[in-house]
Amino acid sequence: MSNVPEMFGSLVFNDPMMKERLPKDIYKALKKTREEGKPLDLHVANVVAAAMKNWAIEHGATHFTHWFQPMTGITAEKHDSFISPVEGGRVVMEFSGKELIKGEPDASSFPSGGLRATFEARGYTAWDPTSDAFLKDGTLCIPTAFCSYGGEALDKKTPLLRSMEALDRQALRVLRLFGNEDVTRVDTTVGPEQEYFLVDNELYKKRKDLVYTGRTLFGAKPPKGQELEDHYFGVIKPRVSAYMKDLDEELWKLGILARTKHNEAAPAQHELAPIFTTGNLATDHNQLTMEVMKKVAARHGMACLLHEKPFAGVNGSGKHNNWSLSTNTGVNLLEPGDSPRENAQFLLFLVAILRAVDEHQDLLRISVASAGNDHRLGGYEAPPAIVSMFIGDDLAEILESIEKGTPYKKRDTGEIEIGVDALPHFPKDTTDRNRTSPFAFTGNKFEFRMLGSSDSIACPNMMLNVMVADVLRDFADQLERAEDFNAALNKLIRRTIKEHKRILFNGNNYSDEWREEAARRGLLNLPSTADALPYYCSEENVALFERHGVLSRTEIGSRCEIMLENYCKQLQIEALTMLDLIHKDILPAVCAYMKDLSATAVSKKELGVPAELETELLKKLSARSSGLYRAAGELAQDVDNAPKDAGAAQQARYYHETVFAQMERARAVADELEVLTGREYWPFPTYGDLLFSVR
Ligand code: ADP
Ligand code: MG
Repeated sequence: MSNVPEMFGSLVFNDPMMKERLPKDIYKALKKTREEGKPLDLHVANVVAAAMKNWAIEHGATHFTHWFQPMTGITAEKHDSFISPVEGGRVVMEFSGKELIKGEPDASSFPSGGLRATFEARGYTAWDPTSDAFLKDGTLCIPTAFCSYGGEALDKKTPLLRSMEALDRQALRVLRLFGNEDVTRVDTTVGPEQEYFLVDNELYKKRKDLVYTGRTLFGAKPPKGQELEDHYFGVIKPRVSAYMKDLDEELWKLGILARTKHNEAAPAQHELAPIFTTGNLATDHNQLTMEVMKKVAARHGMACLLHEKPFAGVNGSGKHNNWSLSTNTGVNLLEPGDSPRENAQFLLFLVAILRAVDEHQDLLRISVASAGNDHRLGGYEAPPAIVSMFIGDDLAEILESIEKGTPYKKRDTGEIEIGVDALPHFPKDTTDRNRTSPFAFTGNKFEFRMLGSSDSIACPNMMLNVMVADVLRDFADQLERAEDFNAALNKLIRRTIKEHKRILFNGNNYSDEWREEAARRGLLNLPSTADALPYYCSEENVALFERHGVLSRTEIGSRCEIMLENYCKQLQIEALTMLDLIHKDILPAVCAYMKDLSATAVSKKELGVPAELETELLKKLSARSSGLYRAAGELAQDVDNAPKDAGAAQQARYYHETVFAQMERARAVADELEVLTGREYWPFPTYGDLLFSVR
């Protein structure tokens, strides 16, 4: 193993590298831009660009690219070489400040959800100096935001950065009220835990459904699944271990703080968690992590599956978005603290989040809405589609005693007066963590667990930031006006608990009882993407995003449109892949088996031997294959009948209710056929083959 500290960040043009390679005044100017968002002047940019280019060339780079995150959910890059012709048919390597700061990729082929029609097709990319440039496959990658010429965001980074600004503004107002004068910036900290599956690449290639759609569209339950619970935290197999080691190194070189790795609940399922960092950087790093995971898997003869539900009947993959607020002075605002002042401030932030989650359940659900994630949410394995919040028994009791003005049991003195009394001591790392909760307080941060494994974390974090910023804004408005701060604070916290405690739930989120209870409490239950997305454009949401300058009405409309369109396209691709596999692979395979069975039956009869088995089996296979053929016919019809001129929301509903439902029916028949068909005949690897393929 090479020297890790030396390897760490070796492919990143990071702060130490800038310090080493830039003249002092230039370094200072750049640092100011990075820390305070001050604009960068062209002279500074030119010097930075030249230094970056020299560094990149020394590391073997020949090209640069503006690396951005369009609405496709993955990253995009267009590579330009550094070459510039000079006299005598020769070239020199050049890279200007202008090229560093701004790029102009053709925006017309990226999803814009209607923005394209109203604005110029060309978009531009703008350097995000808060995220470091890095090297990937001989190319200098410059993290950028991607906007239309009118300034409308066409990507996931722009609104995330805007939301971080909004939260910073409002959190600072609140901190001032508590007398924090030294804090000049509040950032979000984010640590995303990433789940994934590994399967053998040779088998993967034989599963066209995995290749085209990322998930298996067919597959009978294998004799062994995850019922023995022997995989979670189990011994890591040698091939997987070699992969994880290689993956860690590649991530470390990119300055990504990969830390924890272990086996997950399902066979062939694993997890990687980095150490948390600033929200924006964590988002860039998570996108890179997903990319590197796939690349390294290929090197090890495996395929890394990031789909939310690659296999029916075993756990799907999610992503846990650990989120907190941190000051530039290094204080975690969700750390309960020891003194009354800190406690009061903590409680105010806590109830702000309580109210934000209650008021904006729809936004949290929307932020994780995708065709893939619909399989998990509500699937008795992951958090349900109902948003609720878990804060642990101790905190819940404290909130209850504050609300009711009753003494807190675990404390000798009377009722709690915020800002005067210290909070009673409560265990910070509560061991009785509620693993079923979609949004759980885990000691000094919240863990949002509804994200799908392939999701970009940009949108969930953007939503969280705006929601919380909006409540803090209202709190600051109220408290800034108050004559008696402590009295107003007490009243505000008490009222907020009373009005929003319905969102708290400490029980089993997978149970039917909770579904019923949540309905009684009036909580939203939006099981599918088609149900959730229309809420995005509600008047309250438009007002919320516009109030904080995070998204305009047009931008929200376009985002909603893109997500709905993606959903329909995804289901359409799945349906077409299914039809292809049924007609080209499954039915021919079953027919071949039936042919051999018939031949055997005929010869047996000629010899006067009873052919009971063959006849019985033939009957079953024949009935089911006809059934599958009919189901496929109906599915083809359903796809053809998709409403073409209807709005995106209506189309999504159709795909969910009609196309997807028919896919489920067709699958059920195909899986029965798989069970009955001889191994040699079945046209692709089974679940058993795939899930236990890597030793
Ligand atoms: P578990 O699986 O028990 O939830 P892990 O260690 O796998 O725990 O993941 C916890 C994640 O939370 C890590 O990525 C960690 O860096 C992150 N985290 C810890 N503290 C904070 C914080 N203050 N803000 C954001 N993320 C945090
Ligand atoms: Mg974990």
